[in-house]
Amino acid sequence: MALYIVLGVLGSALVVLLAVMILRACFCKNKNNGKPFSKQEGRLPDVEAHISRAVTLPTVSQVDEESVDWEQFDKFADFLEKTYPEVHKHMQKTVIGGHGLVFFLPGSDPALEPVAMLAHQDVVPVTPGTEEDWTHPPFAGHNDGEFIWGRGALDMKNHLIAVMEATEALLKEGFVPKRGLYILLGCNEEIVASENSSAKKIAAYLKESGVRLKCAVDEGGGVIPLSYKNVIDKTLVGIGVAEKGYLDIELSVTAKGGHSSAPPAHTALGIISKAVCRIEKHPYKADMPYFIYDMLRIVGRDVKSFPLRLVTCNLRLFKPLLNYVMGKIPAAASVVRTCTAVTMCSASTAPNVLPQRASAVLNMRLMPGVSIEDAVRRLKRIIKDERVSVHVLKGNPAPPVSSTDTDTYKLAARLLGAGSSDRTVAPYIVMGATDSRYYTEICDEIYRISPFETPVSLLLTTHGTNERLPVSSIKTAVAFFKDFIAQRTAE
Ligand SMILES: [Zn+2]
Repeated sequence: MALYIVLGVLGSALVVLLAVMILRACFCKNKNNGKPFSKQEGRLPDVEAHISRAVTLPTVSQVDEESVDWEQFDKFADFLEKTYPEVHKHMQKTVIGGHGLVFFLPGSDPALEPVAMLAHQDVVPVTPGTEEDWTHPPFAGHNDGEFIWGRGALDMKNHLIAVMEATEALLKEGFVPKRGLYILLGCNEEIVASENSSAKKIAAYLKESGVRLKCAVDEGGGVIPLSYKNVIDKTLVGIGVAEKGYLDIELSVTAKGGHSSAPPAHTALGIISKAVCRIEKHPYKADMPYFIYDMLRIVGRDVKSFPLRLVTCNLRLFKPLLNYVMGKIPAAASVVRTCTAVTMCSASTAPNVLPQRASAVLNMRLMPGVSIEDAVRRLKRIIKDERVSVHVLKGNPAPPVSSTDTDTYKLAARLLGAGSSDRTVAPYIVMGATDSRYYTEICDEIYRISPFETPVSLLLTTHGTNERLPVSSIKTAVAFFKDFIAQRTAE
């Protein structure tokens, strides 16, 4: 009898749960005003020409600063000066560390914290030997009417020029902001975790000057049309509220060496290999951070397929399952856990010589909240071998996560199309490192935004061959920066 009662209660609970799940799948959706996002149609030939010109100046970053062609950065600064006379007339320009550029427009109310627009002037090199693979040469800035081709077209001369254009246009209109406005242009962002980071120097200069920023907007994020039949048909706008930390670690073992005809049971390389195997066998546990949960929850409401909606509209129930599934798919796993890639190794210099030293390099991408010390401690625990030393080469932990509950986030989201019928705006985590991480000591509201509508296939050309920017994305992006700067500095 008691068993029947228990089964009855469980059965009823299950029915209620199922009913709730189905109701949620039927009715949960993102509120919208019924109108599509108002994209700026048409083109801005002058802005296109400026982006092209910016691409033709090969401001290429090199790990070895000595081999950087700094003359190109001088030319870039000259180009900015000639192209943006209003910016140079009204904004105070300070050069930091040779080529970092700081522009400042004081606000009418000095008590209010200023707003900062960040960008980097440098680009990554073109991989030697791939120059011929480009449809148009990487530093020609070719505009075929559909795309502007070249290194930096997406990362991030498009963004830098759009910020300059927006500010120039505002100043031409007699713009007097209430809050001050900074434009902060680093010159070596592409050298990850560089000791010599230009953005780090700019941030230090601002801190020394007693500046605290209301907010900072940097690269990252995206406006990505997603169209999968019966699944989703929306433009997804990601605002990067977080980014991953970066860490290079060297594992090394020293040994006696000698002739390989009388080897020990394990050479230095053998010991290193075992450590590497253990590390790969013990990945971090997938643990979905709340902002990724938020992103899936928001995007999930736009999913069309009913069976899928049963999951995406009842995420809380499926979170453990999602963690498990996402943890199994490399691209998805990278947003729910700290990742480790074994990227380099070295040992003996000859086939018949026992290595006296063997080493392997790990590249780790840390989730927010995981410190460098945590990562090293965990590695040592997993390797469990005193002979293996673990040495930090360089790294930065992930910066703190910015809140979505701020006026800055809400303004950016609204201007990017939140509340429209065809766009969904959600927070997300930027996989790469951006200069914005250096500003966390003087700013809490840091957002990584790219207002250029670009399909995933094109985004994948960033840092690669045939990097190119759709010209149709430019006018809307400039309008976004103009509105954002005007409105965020107005109060
Ligand atoms: Zn970049």
